[in-house]
Amino acid sequence: MNNAEIVDLAHQNLMNTYGCVPLAFVRGTGAYLYDADGNRYLDFFCGLAVTSLGHSHPRVVRAIKEQAEKLTHVSNVFHTEPMARLAARLCGHFGDGRLFFCNSGAEANEAALKLARRWGHDRGAGRFEVVSTLGSFHGRTFGTLSATGQEKYHIGFQPLLPGFRLVPYDDVDALDKAVRDETVAIMIEPIQGEGGVVTPHPDYLKRVRELCDRRKILLILDEVQTGIGRTGKLFAWQHAGVKPDIMTLAKALGGGLPIGAMIAKSEIAQSLAPGSHGSTFGGNPVSCAAAGAVLDTLEQDGALENAAGVGGYMLERLRAFAKGCPRVAEVRGLGMMIGVVLRGEAKSTAEACMRERLLVNATAENVLRLLPPLTLTRDEADAGLQIIERALAGAAASSKS
Ligand SMILES: *Cc1c(COP(=O)(O)O)cnc(C)c1O
Repeated sequence: MNNAEIVDLAHQNLMNTYGCVPLAFVRGTGAYLYDADGNRYLDFFCGLAVTSLGHSHPRVVRAIKEQAEKLTHVSNVFHTEPMARLAARLCGHFGDGRLFFCNSGAEANEAALKLARRWGHDRGAGRFEVVSTLGSFHGRTFGTLSATGQEKYHIGFQPLLPGFRLVPYDDVDALDKAVRDETVAIMIEPIQGEGGVVTPHPDYLKRVRELCDRRKILLILDEVQTGIGRTGKLFAWQHAGVKPDIMTLAKALGGGLPIGAMIAKSEIAQSLAPGSHGSTFGGNPVSCAAAGAVLDTLEQDGALENAAGVGGYMLERLRAFAKGCPRVAEVRGLGMMIGVVLRGEAKSTAEACMRERLLVNATAENVLRLLPPLTLTRDEADAGLQIIERALAGAAASSKS
């Protein structure tokens, strides 16, 4: 089937929940994707920060194949070696933690919210409230939607869950004021991803940590997008040295396969007893084997260093370009998570890039979000940035005329 045939068939049968691009992909390798008409695209999108090691990374492919040939599912009534090993490795990186496996970011956050409420319940009745931030994105389930500070996602789904308060991001005083006797946790992203790659002040996380300690509440960091190397460190909180009480992961963890995880400090994790939470598919051995290969690659192949190095170079080049391009208001981000903030909407620029065979994402109306693979080479970075710069310069020229 060609692009148009696949897109038509999908449109006839799928619910219309995505404002999607009419392209169908058939294969990928490294930083490149190939569509059903045989065109090649440079991928600065990575399936929404998922394929962080590039497409079909040989180590990930091998792990998936080998595990699929052995065993694909047994449920959490039993154990498997890939699951046990992955939990041990992630807890090792977190330090003194316990882990719960699920299948997505929303589920990981939902688990974190449930753990926080249960932890509050264990400390006396009437403690259940979670404070989160405006512009955040935590998922589409009712719990995570209630924590998400973007009204556009709430429309038509009210009433949302009680027990959530929203305050501005990167504002410790606002958090301080919102915390009450009922509060059990503050839930934030180290960098707001979907909200426009919003990078807070360098001391924000540290001050939120201090606030949580002082008020004896939990710090939940949603690392679904920032985690697993996206910012140049395995977890974004490692830049600030601010360890959360609960951390959630998903997106890049499985190297393209669905898997999510919630990790909590051991003492806090005790609040979830047998029967209190679960997931049928959570920690399935194929996804865990893939995630193991992802960690191997990050630990051994210098992908984190590359993300920091090439990502830093991209930020620099874009900032230099922005000085001469009135359409760009700001360039921000960390590692391979970069936001080009435009004056005006970003969608048409993203579309212009796609016509030039570069996949980029527009988010928060006016932000061009770049999420290239952590393994991107400098030449690939230059090739992509040239397309972006041309699209931005062209847009500036056409809006002047
Ligand atoms: C994508 C995302 C989620 C939701 O993950 P899903 O796998 O789509 O449920 C939650 N939090 C953050 C920060 C995200 O970027």
